[in-house]
Amino acid sequence: MRSYPNLNDKYDVSELENLNAHPWQLEMLKKNPSYVYWGNHEDCMSDDNGGWRSPISLKSWKDHFKLDELNELVNFYFFIRRDSHQCPHCDGDGLNPESKAIFDNWYSFEDRSKRWCDKINDAEVEALVKAGRLHDLTKPTFAVNSKKLSTTNYWFDEETNKWIGWVEINGKSRKVQVHKPEYPTAAQVNAWESTGRGFGHDAINRNICCRTRAINQGVYGECKHCVEGRIYDAENATLKLQMWFLHPRKGASRGVLVEEILENEISDVISYLKEAKKRNNQRFGKL
Ligand SMILES: [Zn+2]
Repeated sequence: MRSYPNLNDKYDVSELENLNAHPWQLEMLKKNPSYVYWGNHEDCMSDDNGGWRSPISLKSWKDHFKLDELNELVNFYFFIRRDSHQCPHCDGDGLNPESKAIFDNWYSFEDRSKRWCDKINDAEVEALVKAGRLHDLTKPTFAVNSKKLSTTNYWFDEETNKWIGWVEINGKSRKVQVHKPEYPTAAQVNAWESTGRGFGHDAINRNICCRTRAINQGVYGECKHCVEGRIYDAENATLKLQMWFLHPRKGASRGVLVEEILENEISDVISYLKEAKKRNNQRFGKL
């Protein structure tokens, strides 16, 4: 977890419950910059030759670098992780064996007779259309001033179980119930998938179809050995600190990860980050 959780978001709440994090650890996430999507061994921070550009990990805060003109700290973020490993029973899918078989067989390259990505049924087509998929094959049946709605201005609302659209009425855009669009038949979708004339199903479509099939067969469920594909090795979460240093003389930047920050080290860590903030301000201070 890299950002303070949104307690109205069910995924954030579920992640939070699984993490078993202390409140002081969560508080540190509030100090993060808004962009927290890079880190050691991610994107281009993967160089592994041990040079000045290679990311490094420090076991504890005690090993941190002194800040000077050869070690300029230019960015950071705290994050929380609970050590875990991939569940061997479900290969990390988090599904029971019956549901997993449905997902695995979607593309099934080994046994083509089990492959069903080009053999979906009408219930699965309906699930796809309701999730806003299959735009190319779906026709709106509601038109305003003979202008047909586009896929971006009508959608299926799960809460009310109705099709809703933004419709222009007397010059004003209003949200009203609209007719359900004309779904393609399963045969049309399967031809679209198998002939390669369209883009075909992506990972989101696969997920929707597999889940729908597993639910309709009454087998959908989670793996009983893990939590969302992971087996936790640690009781609690650990607070980690990702930093990004520049070494101007070597023309290098590198990720430096501190594997564990303890509660009694927080004030020292904050002082250190404030020192970096001051250095960053000073470098541009004469402008
Ligand atoms: Zn599992």
